[in-house]
Amino acid sequence: KHAAKIRLDSVKQDTDKDKDKADRATSEQVLDQRTRMILLQMINRGVVSEVHGAISTGKEANVYGAVTYDDKTGDTIQRAIKVYKTAILVFKDRERYITGEHRFKGGFDKGNNRKMVKLWAEKEFRNLRRIHNAGIPSPEPLSLKLHVLAMSFLGDKKGWAYPRLRDAVLDGDDVEKQWSDLYIQLLGIMRRIYQVCRLVHADLSEYNILYHDGKLYIIDVSQSVEPDHPRSLEFLRMDIKNVGDFFRRKGVDTLTDRMIFNFITA
Ligand code: ATP
Ligand code: MN
Repeated sequence: KHAAKIRLDSVKQDTDKDKDKADRATSEQVLDQRTRMILLQMINRGVVSEVHGAISTGKEANVYGAVTYDDKTGDTIQRAIKVYKTAILVFKDRERYITGEHRFKGGFDKGNNRKMVKLWAEKEFRNLRRIHNAGIPSPEPLSLKLHVLAMSFLGDKKGWAYPRLRDAVLDGDDVEKQWSDLYIQLLGIMRRIYQVCRLVHADLSEYNILYHDGKLYIIDVSQSVEPDHPRSLEFLRMDIKNVGDFFRRKGVDTLTDRMIFNFITA
């Protein structure tokens, strides 16, 4: 058995009592007591063996790299752990996705941040499961405890995460064709998310798509809504616009937003 450990080299600990609460909550690299406890539980349950430094520190969440070991082969398996922040600030942005979300009717208590963030994490877990089960390239959701979500890692064996589509560098003599193929690939994915998963991503852009070896991976689905959400089509139009803008900048001869909307929803 491998020794379980949390190696939070790059992660400050939440012991600075002088800072006020809000400050600590929004500060980027803090893992509070509760979060560290959940990570320890995940280690004990074998979800992960080691938690490493942050892959990404954002406004809403930090994503950490982690590894576990295959019992049979002893191989290292990479994992990703998303830790949602409980700061009050981020809830303002989330409200428009939550209002009208029937899956959380009665479940939201705006006065209770910890409960809100737990539901938010739950929403990502469920949306991710739907998307992943539909065969759309995406992280596999593995474990959820309060505001901590463990999923499969999209990256190489050494622990390097795949780049965001925004940062993808394509090479070869047919780069133009590659971009246009990726565009077509993404339209197919958007249609399947809508038709098969019955979801609208609602924050789709080159920032929430990872790229590797000709393939696109969809991430960050906590805000995704079902088509019966009162603003789902507005979110879908925004997704379509983001995608179109990006691929036009890459020189792709894109279809009109209206054509894409019809393709996805028809
Ligand atoms: P914020 O909005 O606060 O930046 P976020 O909600 O956007 O956080 P995500 O988009 O889900 O968080 O993840 C942030 C980054 O972490 C991604 O851009 C990606 O680089 C990396 N990442 C997320 N999930 C994975 C994964 N399963 N495997 C590899 N990298 C991941
Ligand atoms: Mn994101």
